[in-house]
Amino acid sequence: MRLRNVRGSREKIAADDFVIKEADQYRGHWKEKITAGKPLHLEIGMGKGKFLMELADRNPDIYYIGIEKFSSVLVRALGKMEEDPLDNVRFLRMDAEYIEQIFAPGEVDRIYLNFSDPWPKERHVKRRLTSRQFLERYSHILSEEGRIIFKTDNEDLFQFSLESVQENGWELEISTLDLHHSEYAEGNIMTEYEERFSAQGKPIFMLQARPGSGKESL
Ligand code: SAM
Repeated sequence: MRLRNVRGSREKIAADDFVIKEADQYRGHWKEKITAGKPLHLEIGMGKGKFLMELADRNPDIYYIGIEKFSSVLVRALGKMEEDPLDNVRFLRMDAEYIEQIFAPGEVDRIYLNFSDPWPKERHVKRRLTSRQFLERYSHILSEEGRIIFKTDNEDLFQFSLESVQENGWELEISTLDLHHSEYAEGNIMTEYEERFSAQGKPIFMLQARPGSGKESL
């Protein structure tokens, strides 16, 4: 994501009701205080929020939280929400590294990871959103039926992620090297990056996995 500093974005986020502030106060109480009992799905690294908002529009019985690290990116999603507000979407501006401080064990029902930054250098492996460290965090906050769904155009990151889920005891439920021409294409919502890469003729990789028998040992 090209990062341009958007003037006033921090102030806008601080004043915007669609952004949840001091989110740690809801830890262990999201379903009671925020989602009104609806399942809670997250997108980590949501960028400008196109995917999340289309998904939320199609699924009013699910509550969605979009997590984004950078104010200058999040502020674009806020612009879209103002044009077309949705009751079942809110945003958090944070680094997902601290996700366990915000969500208690078992509180999250699904996590979407779309076109996550590849962090190709070996010394940055821990920052990949499908690294052992992140999978461990997810395994703590996901419910019994919880899953991650990951899409990317980056073959190396996809291979890394396949190995990571399997090496860390997760159960790989779905994996495809060409989502758009697979049986999982129907109902797929394209993200901003996905539109761009598929317009260039690149295949989109996708996997779905759940913490498996290795969950306890993580
Ligand atoms: N998901 C969008 C899409 O598919 O169009 C955006 C993809 S963009 C390559 C990755 C996004 O993830 C960026 O907006 C980046 O700021 C965000 N991101 C990366 N690491 C993150 C982290 N640790 N916590 C929260 N957001 C993160």
